Amino acid sequence: MNQVLEEAPAEQSLVPNLLKGKTGLVLGVANKWSIAWAIAQSLSKAGMRLAFTYQGERLQKNVSSLAETLGPDVPLYPCDVTDEQQIKDLFKSVANDFDGLDCVIHSMAFAKREELAGEFLNTSKEGYLMAQEISAYSLTAVCREALPLMENRGGGSIVTLTYYGGEKVVPNYNVMGVAKAALEMSVRYLAEDLGPRNIRINAISAGPIKTLAASGVSGFSNITEVMKEKAPLRRNIEAAEVGDTALFLVSPLSRGITGEVLHVDAGYHIKGF
Ligand code: NAD
Repeated sequence: MNQVLEEAPAEQSLVPNLLKGKTGLVLGVANKWSIAWAIAQSLSKAGMRLAFTYQGERLQKNVSSLAETLGPDVPLYPCDVTDEQQIKDLFKSVANDFDGLDCVIHSMAFAKREELAGEFLNTSKEGYLMAQEISAYSLTAVCREALPLMENRGGGSIVTLTYYGGEKVVPNYNVMGVAKAALEMSVRYLAEDLGPRNIRINAISAGPIKTLAASGVSGFSNITEVMKEKAPLRRNIEAAEVGDTALFLVSPLSRGITGEVLHVDAGYHIKGF
């Protein structure tokens, strides 16, 4: 690692004030291990004012205690993306609290545990549709509702999270791999629709990180072992590295980039052996 990066204190941003005066909404924090939380920390350190959603009352306390660490007056809203009314209500509430939105982070996915083990062949129709609805379709629904708030700011940037299992077959990833393929293609179609409004949308394809969602994938620790052995950087990645890439994608530094799937995986995806 470059010396400047190594010497930067963890609590400070390398680019303070890059996002000063900007506002963002983060969907997908469940706990302190969530990738969405690492992204929120990177954005907040760069000066962005944030709001968060939580999925159901069970997670409200977790998200609230994390959000409090960023300062006073961080808005929190309930949002289960399987309920379209909740998505509409969410953006009505955001419009009341913020005069517009510069960024949306979509960091959500779900499949039933039994669909993330064994043969893809045994995927149930219900399990297939549920994975698609929460992990892929929700991005389009969220973009549609976020649009007027981003247009108020003259444009914006949306970032979603994907995984290599949406490009290549990864054992047990199964129905989620198919949902990620749909998500990545959604990013391209959405980029075409949103581009004329000066709204960019990109996906980060993150390497495996130990989180609640990852623990649902059977044999997850094998995936991290293979990664450490084969990735060009010969290591796994940290959530903070995904956070800083999201910061880049949200900032004007990436203003020429949209419809892209950017791998933050220590280079694993380039390997053919
Ligand atoms: P996580 O469990 O911390 O986050 C998943 C989030 O999805 C949770 O906050 C959960 O509340 C939310 N969610 C699930 N169903 C929902 C619903 N119906 N409505 C609203 N929210 C819902 O796990 P994570 O690993 O941080 O996952 C975040 C994203 O990163 C996911 O898209 C995941 O597929 C992706 N990703 C994870 C890894 C990894 O190895 N952890 C790698 C690549 C991509």
